[in-house]
Amino acid sequence: MNPISDLVVRDPWRIIQRGYSDENNRKYESLMAIGNGHMGQRATFEEDFTGSTHSGSYMAGIYFPDKTRVGWWKNGYPEYFAKVINSTNWIGISIVLNDEPVDLNTMKIDSFERTLDMKTGILHRRFSGTLPSGEKVEVKTKRFVSMENRELGVVDYEIKILDGEGKIHIKPYLDGDIMNEDSNYEVKFWEEVKKNAGNNEAYLEIQTKKLDYHLGSAMKFSIEKNGSDLPFTGHQETAKKFIGVQANKTFEPGDVFRIQKWVANCTNRDHRVEDLEQKCHDVLAWAHSTGTEALEKTHAERWAQIWKDCDIVIEGDMDAQQAIRFNIFQLYQTYNGHDPRLNIGPKGFTGEKYGGSTYWDTEAYCLPFYMATTDQKVAHTLLVYRYKHLQKAIENAEKLGFKNGAALYPMVTMNGEECHNEWEITFEEIHRNGAIAYAIYNYVKHTQDKVYLAEYGFEVLVGIARFWAQRVHWSEAKQQYVMLGVTGPNEYENNVNNNWYTNYIAAWCMRYTLEVANYLKEEHPNEFKTLCQKLNFDFPKTEKGWMHISDHMHYPKMQDSDIYLQQEGYLDKENITVNELPVSERPLNQKWSWDRILRSPFIKQADVLQGIYFFEDHFTQEELKANFDYYEPRTVHESSLSPCIHSVLASKLGYREKAYEMFLRTSRLDLDDYNREVHEGLHITSMAGTWIALVQGFGGMRVENDRLTFRPYLPKEWKSYTFSIVFRGVRVHVTSRKDGVELSTSAPITIAVWGELIDLDGTQRTVIKSKTAV
Ligand code: BGC
Repeated sequence: MNPISDLVVRDPWRIIQRGYSDENNRKYESLMAIGNGHMGQRATFEEDFTGSTHSGSYMAGIYFPDKTRVGWWKNGYPEYFAKVINSTNWIGISIVLNDEPVDLNTMKIDSFERTLDMKTGILHRRFSGTLPSGEKVEVKTKRFVSMENRELGVVDYEIKILDGEGKIHIKPYLDGDIMNEDSNYEVKFWEEVKKNAGNNEAYLEIQTKKLDYHLGSAMKFSIEKNGSDLPFTGHQETAKKFIGVQANKTFEPGDVFRIQKWVANCTNRDHRVEDLEQKCHDVLAWAHSTGTEALEKTHAERWAQIWKDCDIVIEGDMDAQQAIRFNIFQLYQTYNGHDPRLNIGPKGFTGEKYGGSTYWDTEAYCLPFYMATTDQKVAHTLLVYRYKHLQKAIENAEKLGFKNGAALYPMVTMNGEECHNEWEITFEEIHRNGAIAYAIYNYVKHTQDKVYLAEYGFEVLVGIARFWAQRVHWSEAKQQYVMLGVTGPNEYENNVNNNWYTNYIAAWCMRYTLEVANYLKEEHPNEFKTLCQKLNFDFPKTEKGWMHISDHMHYPKMQDSDIYLQQEGYLDKENITVNELPVSERPLNQKWSWDRILRSPFIKQADVLQGIYFFEDHFTQEELKANFDYYEPRTVHESSLSPCIHSVLASKLGYREKAYEMFLRTSRLDLDDYNREVHEGLHITSMAGTWIALVQGFGGMRVENDRLTFRPYLPKEWKSYTFSIVFRGVRVHVTSRKDGVELSTSAPITIAVWGELIDLDGTQRTVIKSKTAV
């Protein structure tokens, strides 16, 4: 299967690297990145390091509008491509022994271990070795970004001298002279505002060259020698956008130096610029008086609470157990709903490409995860985020020639504006609009929060539906509506006509918006009247137009079969499947020219199948089977978003081996580096897909006829699995075993299991024996 599946040691709660590897170092930096929703940090080293590394520290919501780079400018291109900015390196502690820096790249390494403890959210590292000048050392480090106070980061660094004596220089620092690896014109995005230092503290403030973001970072540190406080005189060291404080001491064999470094990272997204320095000092004063051990404890308690609600326990399969926790952990490190201005970037805080911008990934993949694992407020917040961008989506559509309040949400955004710059993505991958409408439907179905529709949802739906109504046109030849020049979810095809998925979701969206209009008219007549006026929405006229479109939409289909064609002309492509491709030619996006990819029949990710997944109750099992059997063998799954959808559908079809293979692939995508790109960062949004594959796929969780339902089965590799979800304020715990399923809930609720209604009283465990569970 996967050639590098031994990247990490198998463990239920930890991601462990044993032994140092320069070649794989960047991969581990991504895999063990830590974050708390406000900031995140790749698992780089605190001490100096001259080997292969990508030092990355990111602040949520702070971005840079990097000038677009395209060969030939076309009207409508976005001016900028937003980059999540790599910012001040706050972890740095330089240690020099007798003029020789401690640097793993120049040392002879005797032992090395780096461990991310997912239970507590703490990154550990230990190594020992010999410096080129002969000193032998052993180092142990711990680091976390606090879940209690999100502006705080803590480093606990211990160095023991095993052999050698002389002078030691210890220099904790803040370095803002950072450049994004993906900067379009190799320019640095930050400039210095101010810096200052005291005996054991320093402050550095930097500002972005555009948009005026300010980041203030303050550090405070202490040094202990052999368990006692070590008094020292701090010598300030400065350079451009850099400030450090150096302590000079002597050492002899057996000495242990412990450096505790507390750092506050505050931005003007949360505070006034003139208050930043003081805010940082307040955080540090609190952290210092609390002490590292207590800070660590409360941080771990926050994680314990998350695990209490969201953990999934898998018995009998360590690969799967480690993977599912890794996915849940990374999602909650990236986003936890505390700040409504934020969203979930495909790479979270772990890398730059795709960075922290918002994609359709949020609505199509992440929303179901947050909706069912935590308070419903979080999913609500994610939806309101798009509501707040509605005006920008309308302006975006206007730029492309649409009118009358038609809204086209961006494919990539930081503030509501489109900020991608590939034409096929920006102008053509319009299916993303559909996912935003679908998310509203999905949320209301799960929560029954219909007030949302009156307050926010209807406006968004009308904007999106208006876009679709204008984007299609009547084909005289076909006597149907067609949609030309689009890119579907399968980005390995561009500028196609009648992408089935896009046409389908467009027509559905118009019908759903009308359904919501009817509901509001009946149930919230006053609000509906106000909304109609606000939106200039003529219901009868609009209804007629939209119904005509959705009743006469063209859906390409293979003759005499149940197979929907991904797009017009798909059958003209070579009729070959992925198993005919030599392994050496994959991933295609790294081995083939773009031109060859576009001509080939190979599919990047679920496209027709994405539609069948979203609207499964519109299709028969036979239709699902026909389409799955046709498309899956042609799919290379080179988007991280692909295997999970296939896994759910395979579960539904009873293709258990396929479902399991796809589950492992999605869940261990990064841990095993399937797509050979983990060095660039993790695939955060697809991690929600892992959860979907387990809970909806193996667990068969759905909301059907307004009721929570499960059709669990057990993958043959497992002894059992347990997950819990929140449904309308009730937490439901489900354990699936060979002989049946066990349920318990936090309050009385009736749910359906394998089609049978079960009343749960909220106190007792109920065991249901099953004929179909095995
Ligand atoms: C996928 C898109 C996705 C994006 C960000 C691309 O590779 O094809 O569907 O939105 O990555 O995750």
